[in-house]
Amino acid sequence: METLLLLAHTEPDGSLDKCVREALHAAAQLHKSLPGSSLQIGLFGETVQAAANSIGACPATRYFGVTGREFSLPRYASDAAAAEALCRASQASLVIAPATSRFTRSLAGVAQRLGGRADTHLTGITAADSKVKVSRWYYRQRMEAILESSRRPWFLLVDPGSQPACECGGREAKVQEITVTLTPQTTRTSFEGYRNPSTSVQTLRPDAQLLLVAGAGWTKKQADGQAHAADAERLILDFLKLSRASLGSSKSLVDQSGEGQAVLSFLSHLNQIGQTGSTPRHAKGLSTCCHGEEPHTVGWRFITERRAISLDPNCGWARGKADVLYVADAFKVMAEVNRLLVIGPG
Ligand SMILES: Cc1cc2nc3c(=O)[nH]c(=O)nc-3n(C[C@H](O)[C@H](O)[C@H](O)COP(=O)(O)OP(=O)(O)OC[C@H]3O[C@@H](n4cnc5c(N)ncnc54)[C@H](O)[C@@H]3O)c2cc1C
Repeated sequence: METLLLLAHTEPDGSLDKCVREALHAAAQLHKSLPGSSLQIGLFGETVQAAANSIGACPATRYFGVTGREFSLPRYASDAAAAEALCRASQASLVIAPATSRFTRSLAGVAQRLGGRADTHLTGITAADSKVKVSRWYYRQRMEAILESSRRPWFLLVDPGSQPACECGGREAKVQEITVTLTPQTTRTSFEGYRNPSTSVQTLRPDAQLLLVAGAGWTKKQADGQAHAADAERLILDFLKLSRASLGSSKSLVDQSGEGQAVLSFLSHLNQIGQTGSTPRHAKGLSTCCHGEEPHTVGWRFITERRAISLDPNCGWARGKADVLYVADAFKVMAEVNRLLVIGPG
């Protein structure tokens, strides 16, 4: 009989991030398909009551909390101490947590302390005939593996964006407070703050429906023999503003800033997708001025519908990597798309 624990840390304002609801969805589904299992919630942070209330209508039967200012800070030692105490209190055999940077760093250590195992970057958790199976991708999302383990407790870190968010409503939750006493050794690391890339425009929107990807062609010489980087910037920024899309980039384009070539000022390496970049999750993707080479398209693994605009009818997108390829000048296409977005439907 499995005991499931949804483990989460609260945000500085006491709320739960969307990725917690995604992990909760996975935990609730697993609970449903494991007859006789129980679902519990373990939360830590400066405060946890409001967070517990916000998911109070979920199928969990018990809530545990570790609270205090020290537990709001992203620090290995205090995160691990809180998670360990919550796991011990719940006697969980399966611990499901969102793969936040805090949990990715600390839960392998907690699994070690409890004699368990941890698996990260999970994109699916299922159960059949009381056997739990988890899936994850390897080799930059080229191969999917399905894993089983008889070791308990088993820590399952669910990748953000891989699950729908649990829509269970709120209700007053009765949280059992667990006391964790931190020693000077566990608080000797101090947290100074988050550092964000120094771009003036917000271009990364993980929750956007659409990902617009810009390739190096935007800064290359065009039919008139000139580069038009300023026009490219304006077209891309207007489109992002009008569509609320997220912005990705090819490696070639983000690398250009280091090579002294024309660049788009709002891009950083965080925008790069692909084998050496990220694999974002969006319902749709539109690639512009990009060749669609294999290392780049690896990053499109979780984009459901892919379209591309390129002048080259023989580019990688044309060779089966896009659902739709427009062989056209992206400057002209995006200018028209922006015009249509401004005037609206009809
Ligand atoms: C080990 C390794 C790892 C790599 N990892 C990554 C990675 O993670 N991510 C990544 O992106 N790349 C990666 N690369 C590089 C990758 O192989 C490609 O070189 C790169 O993605 C090409 O970028 P691009 O298509 O923007 O530029 P280019 O290859 O220069 O293509 C520009 C395209 O723009 C088109 N174009 C120009 N003007 C217009 C216009 N007006 N309208 C429409 N189209 C136009 C051209 O026809 C051309 O197809 C990696 C390479 C290696 C070797």
